[in-house]
Amino acid sequence: MTKQNAAVSEADSGINMAAPPAAVSNSTVFSQKPPAAPGGYISISSKKILKNLDVNGAQRINSWVESMRGSSPTHIKSTPHSLTEDHSSWMVDHPSALEMFEQIIEASKGKQIVMFLDYDGTLSPIVDDPDRAFMSDKMRATVKKLAKCFPTAIVSGRCRDKVYSFVKLAELYYAGSHGMDIKGPTGGSKYKKGGQAGILFQPASEYLPMIDEVYKELVEKTKSIPRAKVENNRFCVSVHFRCVDEKKWIELAQQVKSVLKEYPKLRLSQGRKVFEIRPTIKWDKGKALEFLLESLGFANCTNVFPVYIGDDRTDEDAFKILRDRGQGFGILVSKFPKDTSASYSLQEPSEVMDFLQRLVNSKRLSYMGRTRM
Ligand SMILES: [Mg+2]
Repeated sequence: MTKQNAAVSEADSGINMAAPPAAVSNSTVFSQKPPAAPGGYISISSKKILKNLDVNGAQRINSWVESMRGSSPTHIKSTPHSLTEDHSSWMVDHPSALEMFEQIIEASKGKQIVMFLDYDGTLSPIVDDPDRAFMSDKMRATVKKLAKCFPTAIVSGRCRDKVYSFVKLAELYYAGSHGMDIKGPTGGSKYKKGGQAGILFQPASEYLPMIDEVYKELVEKTKSIPRAKVENNRFCVSVHFRCVDEKKWIELAQQVKSVLKEYPKLRLSQGRKVFEIRPTIKWDKGKALEFLLESLGFANCTNVFPVYIGDDRTDEDAFKILRDRGQGFGILVSKFPKDTSASYSLQEPSEVMDFLQRLVNSKRLSYMGRTRM
């Protein structure tokens, strides 16, 4: 594998159609950051992407397709020495949260830990069929124990009902549709006095009819592309191209473009082999994190310690919020170096589970220590 491929592997970054072709050249992406949105993650408005598609036509689309080819795990054949070096230096800046566990516990002492967990690629493996991204029973049991120890929220790009159907734990907070659909635990939260079931917050509710309309149009438009999957996430729409033949990616991108040009109030970003179409409102996973902290009563607290674990570019908004607040930290789930505001790293969901289990054990030990005194 070339350094170039390593750099874009799993690089669920914003669409680089607007970036110079160098983004897919032999230069390292680590030293050449793509344009970042003010929110911290790469999110280019659909208008800008579409403009680039128009202005630069096939060349831009081809550059993007090349970038996407590099991001396919099937292209990862070997690990050259240069990549190992890159990974080692990245790990110095983003050490394993498992290896740093004792230091993390020390930093959280006397503070209320609040857990925020992305779903896909964090609690469940990334799979070809998004409808089959199941979490293991063992992971579910671990998250259940975690929620007994700390307030716990799932923050996902998926629609809330869908992510709930995977997680199936009523005691959690859920922030679906990239945080645009937030609901507290069924029956209220034990962590919040007067906590009530029901919707807590839906900042983009006025967009619902538009999202529904664009979803139907995208389904119709992409019918001709085998294995393209359009997912209605209620407040946003995902167009998955993980299973689409690479020869059809250009056509698919053009189809998405032709639908979105009629919707200037929607923007387009890119996750891991997926287009995300969502309202232009300034709301993201980072804003959802702040909202949840506030609704738990930690708005101006200094003794709160939020931990956010995620694998996607869209999780960077939350990592950045934690950095800016100087509270808690983010953990990026990735096997490869990525540009991130997270402080620590974990390689895959199995490591996430180990980390969560150790948090539970640590809480139980400290409780036992207190009751013995
Ligand atoms: Mg994810």
